[in-house]
Amino acid sequence: MSRLAVHGETPVRDSMLPYGQQWIEEDDIAQVVRVLQSDYLTQGPVIQEFEKKVASYVSAKYAVAFCNGTAALHAACYAAGIGADDEVITTPLTFVASSNCVLYQGGKPVFADIDRRTYNIDPEQIEAKITSRTKALIPVDFTGQPTDMEKINAIARKFGLVVIEDAAHSLGARYQGSKVGAMADMTMFSFHPVKHITTGEGGVIVTDNEEYYQSMLLFRSHGITRDPKKLIDHQGPWYYEMHTLGYNYRMTDLQASLGLSQLNKLEMFLVRRREIAQLYNEAFEVMAGVDTPFQQPDAVSAWHLYILKLDPTQLRGSRKEIFEALRAENIGVNVHYIPVYLQPYYQELGYKRGSCPNAEDVYEQLITLPLYPKMTYSDVNDVIVAVDRVLEYYRLR
Ligand SMILES: *Cc1c(COP(=O)(O)O)cnc(C)c1O
Repeated sequence: MSRLAVHGETPVRDSMLPYGQQWIEEDDIAQVVRVLQSDYLTQGPVIQEFEKKVASYVSAKYAVAFCNGTAALHAACYAAGIGADDEVITTPLTFVASSNCVLYQGGKPVFADIDRRTYNIDPEQIEAKITSRTKALIPVDFTGQPTDMEKINAIARKFGLVVIEDAAHSLGARYQGSKVGAMADMTMFSFHPVKHITTGEGGVIVTDNEEYYQSMLLFRSHGITRDPKKLIDHQGPWYYEMHTLGYNYRMTDLQASLGLSQLNKLEMFLVRRREIAQLYNEAFEVMAGVDTPFQQPDAVSAWHLYILKLDPTQLRGSRKEIFEALRAENIGVNVHYIPVYLQPYYQELGYKRGSCPNAEDVYEQLITLPLYPKMTYSDVNDVIVAVDRVLEYYRLR
């Protein structure tokens, strides 16, 4: 006998619980309103204030804010000097932006397979993919768990590569005692509403390298400079020069003001995320048919995503059936990610199915559960009850 909503029974919840969501309160709104009433909506003082605060939070020298995390990754690739035919090694188990930024610069993304335990890029697979054209590495801290930066930085030093860490999932995470943002040559954080803090859309690159910093400032604003020390000519006070082909990738002061307000709550958000992950771990560790997320002992995750791995040897339902059964219970489960090179656009470019077997295999078994700080204990309990009910039905006996 089935008790499942997918078979017509009453769902665990009345309304759909999303997998991620922002948390905006009155004080956030008041900060944005203050900027709306000020002289500058964009290119004002709040952006620099936000940049300073982000840099100081992760102990980096510089931060450059962008209109979104994807633009930030593009700027980092520009600053790293990625150009035509340069190869950049990244993970296939990520959002398409992690490798699209290489394509924007005319470079070639090369995918190295993942570690089956952490789901992060496997440093040994990176070494196997290095050629004379390799210029940079873009590791991704999948779900918020830092990649093995000690090994990745060692490889980068050995082969003279730039490391751009895609830390869209890992603001506030720690690796060997250091905060993410202090270890790679450049580190990107995203402020999309499902990420740790939000600016609506937004992103940032943090770095200790002044050359990268200057280069990204130029790239963010049409390639234009007004800095008297950098101008080739000096025609008058109106004068500016375009030195490179940049973009309009600026963040607005409205966004930065929301970011400043959200940053004050980051520690509380992280505490909530870790607490919910802990409740999930305790509940799911004892349930047959799923594996809870493996955590490296020398890292502290920022828990952007909580992902269960289904064990097909213990279940008679497919991932699709289990996914649909959980959605019917009004649990907004999701899947992160379709391996990037399986996307039609990448297939068209000639990337081959089968090239990263771990990522392709793991992808088939992953399911993302709702996780965000605003979730209530009752929401968390609904997820646990629904997973229990669905697994019980689909478990092999
Ligand atoms: C969110 C995200 C980005 C960048 O996203 P934007 O929406 O452009 O801010 C890049 N990489 C990963 C892994 C992400 O999750």
